[in-house]
This record gives sequence, C-alpha cells and structure tokens, in this order.
Amino acid sequence: MDVALEILDPLVLDKAYAYFVPAATISNSTGLPSLDVPSSSSPPESAWPRDNILRQCISILVITQLGASMLYWIFSALSYYFIFDRRLEYHPRFLKNQVRQEIVSSMKAVPWINIMTLPFFLAEVRGKSFLYTNVEDYGWAWLGISTVVFMIWNDFLIYWIHRLEHHPSVYKYVHKPHHKWIIPTPWAALAFHPLDGYVQSLPYHIFVFVFPVQKYLYMTLFILVQIWTIFIHDGDMISGHWLEKYINSPAHHTLHHIYFTVNYGQYFTWADSYFDSHRPPRPELDPLIEALKVMRAKGLVDEKGNPIQKKKKE
Ligand SMILES: [Zn+2]
Ligand SMILES: [Zn+2]
Repeated sequence: MDVALEILDPLVLDKAYAYFVPAATISNSTGLPSLDVPSSSSPPESAWPRDNILRQCISILVITQLGASMLYWIFSALSYYFIFDRRLEYHPRFLKNQVRQEIVSSMKAVPWINIMTLPFFLAEVRGKSFLYTNVEDYGWAWLGISTVVFMIWNDFLIYWIHRLEHHPSVYKYVHKPHHKWIIPTPWAALAFHPLDGYVQSLPYHIFVFVFPVQKYLYMTLFILVQIWTIFIHDGDMISGHWLEKYINSPAHHTLHHIYFTVNYGQYFTWADSYFDSHRPPRPELDPLIEALKVMRAKGLVDEKGNPIQKKKKE
C-alpha cells in the first residue's frame, strides 16, 4: 500500500487534500520574507501532512475501493466476453439474472472487505511491516526465495481456511453465499460474504508482518492474485493438459462449485492432492454438456453444439 501512496501522493493526493483540507494561511506581518511562509510559487499545502493518520486511512480506503473495483470490472469483463463460454448460461443450475446478482454481490462485498483490511494497510504505510524497498537489503536470492515461500504459505493457509469454511458448523454463515453460483461466471470472483473474502485474504496480509518482502514484488503478487481469482471462475474446462496435475485451473474451481468438497486450492493442486480432496478435471464432467442438452431441446444448437440459424420469416 505504501507503493500506491508513494505514487499517488505527489501525483494527485497532495493537491486533493490541499483543496479539501487546506492549511491555515499564515500572515507575515513583518513584511520580510520568511522560510515558514509558502511563497506564491510553492504548491498549496494541506493541514493534513502525508503522515497524518486520518489522511492515510481515507487515502487507503479510496485507493482500495477504486483499485479493487477497477481490477474487477476490467478483468471480469475481459474474461466474461473473451474466455467464458456463454452457452453455460443455459445450464439448468444457472440462475435467473445470475450475472447481475454476481456483480451486485461483489460490489456489496468490496467496501466491507476494504474496511476490515484497513488496519493491515495502515500498519504497512506506517512502517510496521517487514516490507522493504532496496533489493540489496536482503539480496536477490531472498527475492526469489520469498516469492516461493509466499506462494507456499498462501496456498497452504488458503487451502485450510477454505476447507474449514466448508465445515457444517460455519459453512452456512460465511461461505454459502459464494456457492450460490453452481455454474459461476468470472463476475462471481468477489461475489461472497465480506467475511469470507476477508478471511481468505488474511494469509497475504499477515505474511509481510512475518517475513521481509520487497514492496514492488508484494504489490505485483497482490494484484496477480486478484486477477487469478477472476481467472479461475471462467468455467473453462480444459482437461488433459499436463499442467492440470500441478495448477489449480479454472476447470478445478468449476468442479469445486459443482461438487463443493473438492479442489479447495488457490494456485496449485499439491494441497488438495496431499490432503485427499483433489478431483482432476475430466471431459465428461464439463457442465457445458448439460447446457448443450438444454440448448438442443430448445432448438438453438444442432447435435454437434453448433448454433442453428433461424430462418427469416418470409
Ligand atoms: Zn469460487
Ligand atoms: Zn468453497
């Protein structure tokens, strides 16, 4: 988060705070130039300097709200229009107005998650985490090692958080809203109970208070996971690829939404394989098969699934 402030403070936030919370003007009664009095050419100042805690809180909430929404709209739209097979919308378990419901649910969750995450981001910008700037401080080797440790840490913890969320004693309170979507679209990426989104993001935020992480690397990995979360909801049932043994693909997550108690992972399948919850994608499990049955019954596609052009009425 301090990277975002580092960029946005001089670019726009300094001006915005100077406009909305201007510093009191000091009159120079001596008529002599004073170092404390800003000259007419110096930029306007705010009563809230960059390290003002209230200013930091507001900036973080604005940045996280805009950042998360922007990533969601851009990448969900790209995924929905270019990857997601919209024939899946004919699946018997696809809800009426589902896309709209997924978007509304996502947009409602984001502000609450941001508010709950605020203490972590605030601690980061106030220098309480192990985020660092110069790669040389810990060396290039640590940069590589910390990336691997970060991935394993997140994969392991998110696996167990997600799996425990499926425990009957908590499932209906926290995780059930995300499983409303049996056939999810990319718009379902953030469509969950705010507490669900928050607890699943906790490993990311805690990591930088346990291990040193280079701050640009951390920001990149943090953005990438947002995109990955959208990507695994695109319903693409690629099967038979050698990578599916190792990567928790969209096909794996599609099966998680259909069968609930399989494929809890985030990036990789190792935790699912090790803890016995891995279900490999198979062509016969593709929900598109059911969707095409409905489309055939409605006369929309032929036996091979190709669209049937309706003849124009004479
Ligand atoms: Zn999901
Ligand atoms: Zn789940």
